[in-house]
Amino acid sequence: MQKISKIAVLTSGGDAPGMNPCIRAVVRTAIYNGLHVAGVRQGYQGLIDNNMYDMDPRSVSNILNLGGTILKTARCLPFRTDEGMETAYKNLKANGIDGLVVIGGDGTFTGALRFSKKYPDIAVIGVPGTIDNDLYGSTYTLGFDTATNTVIEAIDKIRDTADAHDRLFFIEVMGRDSGAIALRAGISCGAEAILLPERDTAIEHLIENLKAGQYNKKSSSIVIVAEGDKRGAYDLAEEVRKQVKFYDIKVTILGHLQRGGSPSAFDRILGSRLGFAAVNALIKGETQKMVGLEANHIKLTDLEEALTQHQFKLEEDLMEMSDILSI
Ligand code: ATP
Repeated sequence: MQKISKIAVLTSGGDAPGMNPCIRAVVRTAIYNGLHVAGVRQGYQGLIDNNMYDMDPRSVSNILNLGGTILKTARCLPFRTDEGMETAYKNLKANGIDGLVVIGGDGTFTGALRFSKKYPDIAVIGVPGTIDNDLYGSTYTLGFDTATNTVIEAIDKIRDTADAHDRLFFIEVMGRDSGAIALRAGISCGAEAILLPERDTAIEHLIENLKAGQYNKKSSSIVIVAEGDKRGAYDLAEEVRKQVKFYDIKVTILGHLQRGGSPSAFDRILGSRLGFAAVNALIKGETQKMVGLEANHIKLTDLEEALTQHQFKLEEDLMEMSDILSI
């Protein structure tokens, strides 16, 4: 078993609230256990540029409440190449690093696994950090809860104005491949319809729904459209406008405001638990694993398995319930 003496931590891909509590947990758990820790700036790019610095417990003071990531993040093309990986490896060795914690989504894990297979003397543990909640091996990913709450707060405000003016709003929320945020936000805000990348809703069905709502004396309607819906909120609104005359129809794209903001209690605790577990896994000699939370227990999943099984599974029961509760 390889004994770890110095670890590096990085955040990669899209930022997600909860990354900072996770970094804090990684740094403090490592130092508590007598390890040294380096913070890598800008994800894999920082490994290639040798952009890293030694961290101590005070490096992560007062960051629990911060959104984004103090280490910065990046999408790094050179890390996809053998040359880029070799440079990253040499820099890690030069800094005396033998363990790596990567916080990010499936792209980040794909890079981590490739790297670790090429250079197995650097142990690698992944932490699921993405607002999309679409990783196998963890019921929740960092940032999903906060992002959903942010979306709910925005939709509640839109509902006020929709109701005052008898309007129908199409609201686009994040999720290119995953309807997780759309579905949870839809249930929480009583959306009249939720359109997801995983389910093809016919426009005729949507229009029937909206007409039934009007017949049932609804004064406003909200349709949540996940970013990954193939028609997009503007085109949908245009189509519906041709047949629905009883509502003034508006479109709102929530955009990047969904990524930011102070992490919720849930994401602070999840980040702390996963960061703590990631370092303990490295200390136990684990590598090429992802730490996740299943049934409120920490679980280790092989990165290989997490990536091959990776696919968001739509919870049909929630979808059905949402349809019934919004009549
Ligand atoms: P999010 O879910 O928020 O998009 P992500 O981790 O999936 O997060 P990506 O941009 O897909 O985000 O991946 C992050 C980084 O991981 C990439 O910029 C790249 O540096 C690295 N990466 C992705 N795929 C590979 C690969 N096949 N080989 C090596 N590195 C990769």
